[in-house]
Amino acid sequence: MVLIGVTPSLTEHGNITKNQDYFSAVFRAGALPVLLPLTEDEAVMEAKLRRVDGLLITGGADVGPDMYGEEKLPCCGETEPARDRFEFPLCRLALEKDMPIFAICRGHQVLSCALGGTLYQDIAQQYGPELKHPQYDIPRDKVHDMAVEEGSLLHRITNLTRFQVNSRHHQAIKTPGAGLKVIAHASDGLIEGVELPGKKFVLGVQWHPEALSDRYAEAQALFDAFVGACK
Ligand code: MN
Repeated sequence: MVLIGVTPSLTEHGNITKNQDYFSAVFRAGALPVLLPLTEDEAVMEAKLRRVDGLLITGGADVGPDMYGEEKLPCCGETEPARDRFEFPLCRLALEKDMPIFAICRGHQVLSCALGGTLYQDIAQQYGPELKHPQYDIPRDKVHDMAVEEGSLLHRITNLTRFQVNSRHHQAIKTPGAGLKVIAHASDGLIEGVELPGKKFVLGVQWHPEALSDRYAEAQALFDAFVGACK
């Protein structure tokens, strides 16, 4: 059975947690998810990656602006420095191994920044208030339109060039990391999806397909394709 390593969040009390939706979507895809506790020891990260077939980098708090060479502005939200110190090297190691990576929301931002990209620390203040991306109160429903590049990984998986997504983010990719191809834009032009051509399967999405995958086929199809690439 395919094993998927899942990165956790860290609570203020020091507990590692992750929303069940991620695990349920991986189960439905026929794989076994395993939570990866935080470590800063790269030898331990290596050992973990040797035992899983794919890496799911999940959502969470903001990436520390120090990770992309910026000062933290007042508009930046709460950060997760311990996760940054775990997920950035973990992501780079998985890329070196050409391990399939599915990166969601904060994970999609981690993927891009690990490749040298930068973020808008706050969309409304630094990009524009045209579209309301931080809709945390509607976690499991579609709130905005999205256009998908024809022929891209997202298009090939879903067979769609346009669909609606949920939106639970106030940050987004400003400049994509090296080699990343932008494959989806929200209706205001903001980057919502990236892939890394030349790799087996590296997909980053700004929305939360795990929270839609119990009701929407194209959301579950992303997990199915990811697990398929891990076989
Ligand atoms: Mn959005």
